[in-house]
Amino acid sequence: MQTDKRNERKGRFGKYGGQYVPETLMPALSQLEEVFEQSLLEEEFQKELNDLYQNYIGRPTPLYFAKRLTEYFGKAKILLKREDLNHTGAHKINNAIGQALLAKRLGKQRIIAETGAGQHGVATATACALLGLECTVFMGAKDIERQQPNVFRMKMLGAKVHSATNGEQTLKEATSEAIRDWVTNVTTTHYILGTASGPHPYPLMVREFQSIIGKEAKEQCLKQFKALPDYVLACIGGGSNAIGIFHEFKNDASIELIGLEAGGKGVNTKEHASSISKGKLGILHGTMSYLVQDDFGKINEVHSISAGMDYPGVGPEHSYLKDIGRAQYYPVTDKQALEGFKLLANKEGILAALESSHAIGYLFELMPKTQKDETVMINLSGRGDKDIPILKEHLG
Ligand SMILES: *Cc1c(COP(=O)(O)O)cnc(C)c1O
Repeated sequence: MQTDKRNERKGRFGKYGGQYVPETLMPALSQLEEVFEQSLLEEEFQKELNDLYQNYIGRPTPLYFAKRLTEYFGKAKILLKREDLNHTGAHKINNAIGQALLAKRLGKQRIIAETGAGQHGVATATACALLGLECTVFMGAKDIERQQPNVFRMKMLGAKVHSATNGEQTLKEATSEAIRDWVTNVTTTHYILGTASGPHPYPLMVREFQSIIGKEAKEQCLKQFKALPDYVLACIGGGSNAIGIFHEFKNDASIELIGLEAGGKGVNTKEHASSISKGKLGILHGTMSYLVQDDFGKINEVHSISAGMDYPGVGPEHSYLKDIGRAQYYPVTDKQALEGFKLLANKEGILAALESSHAIGYLFELMPKTQKDETVMINLSGRGDKDIPILKEHLG
């Protein structure tokens, strides 16, 4: 555990992580690491962050006992951590605000970000409007088309939206273009990466800003239900909402941590984004982790019904947690996610994001194996309004 912690501070989770970036970015990463480490210790920074968490984002988010959903399965009690109730509708704002505050301390006025479904783009544009920073969001041309409401939202918040027209025109290409921009403008620009991936110190930093989810959830669970959960579930895109809730429970060995990946049209087809279940070791966007790639190391095209999960990599800490057996990762198909979406809507009156619906969809497999005196906690990472165009296509 001690060596784990020491290695983490240097950006390694077992063999995963690292800083595989062009040399020109190294000074910026070192500076970021230094300011991040300092700010963690600084009371003033913590106060500013907590004030925004409470009074701007609306934290703490509720831990909600889903009674009718629980009755439907007739097994373990189901609790939902309601990150969908955050300002801007997902957990992404926890990290965007944290990093925007760091950018101010770095003396950088220009912000760039990548986005898939548009939730991180909206969160970053929001944080920039709030703190008076200039904002450019990189988004794949295909995602711009399928996530229109969020594109419009970003523009209204004063951000520029740059269309990434290479390759598959989704999250991978948007991230590559953001990194290219950063290399060119690194002295004036901070890159707000939206998930617990990328070069050190991003995985650590994003985990830090998202760990508020697990801290609150643990405290709320103990207070409201006088016990810890037996299972903690979260969907996995790059892994930020999952690591945010897992982190606080990692040392409670009896709690099963379960990450749900995008199984797309099935992991035995080519159309999925299950990096851990189906990937191999590789390097993408500055970090070493499991990647969906072919035998020659070429990154495969990936697919998910949910634009926020449509990424061939995964944060390095998840690869490590998988290897040491501390967390389990399973694919959930598009179809199962849609079933999860419908179930939550009908039983609880909550329209979940398609990403979060992957965690709900997994309940069909998990719940029969649980006991009545057990508790399943799910991180409901975001709300589904942004997915209405896609839902119309599939359910309308
Ligand atoms: C972006 C997003 C995800 C996936 O990203 P992670 O970094 O894996 O959390 C999941 N849910 C919602 C609502 C999102 O916006």
